[in-house]
Amino acid sequence: MKDFEALKEKSLNDIKNAGIQIGNIVSWEINKRAKTRWGQCKKNIDGTYAIQISSTLLTDDRIPEKAVLETMIHEILHTCKDSMKHSGSWKHYADIMNRTYGYNIKRITKGSEKGVEDYKSKPMAIKYVFTCKGCGAKIYRKRDSKFTRNYRRYGCTLCGAVAWSRHTVD
Ligand SMILES: [Zn+2]
Ligand SMILES: [Zn+2]
Repeated sequence: MKDFEALKEKSLNDIKNAGIQIGNIVSWEINKRAKTRWGQCKKNIDGTYAIQISSTLLTDDRIPEKAVLETMIHEILHTCKDSMKHSGSWKHYADIMNRTYGYNIKRITKGSEKGVEDYKSKPMAIKYVFTCKGCGAKIYRKRDSKFTRNYRRYGCTLCGAVAWSRHTVD
């Protein structure tokens, strides 16, 4: 279990030390129900803000502290002036945080409700690149398959050559 208070303090301090002015956050809640959302920032009627963080971030040891900080900072930045959307000011501040501290704060979902994150699992990354030795055509594969195992026997559909070099992406 990660130290929620310590992570919260660090994310607030990192933002302040970068010279970014944040809004008035009146509540932080650890959400145990949200399964697909890491964080959320809601603006109250009086102009204050309420932030929710998924409990999974704190309890799941596979998730590094840096990822938790990134979610917290992502949400806190929504409390800055004109920053409820993931463009304009929010993007500008996120860029500052990424540049200054090496964070990787991203906006994630297009079209999500204002301030509501839908952290769907990321698209699978390319795992293999096969290059035809005949014509240089490339084939990209995200997972193991009959082709990735038996590529030596497959002919290139462009030039007919049966010769590939395989590169594993890590
Ligand atoms: Zn957001
Ligand atoms: Zn070829």
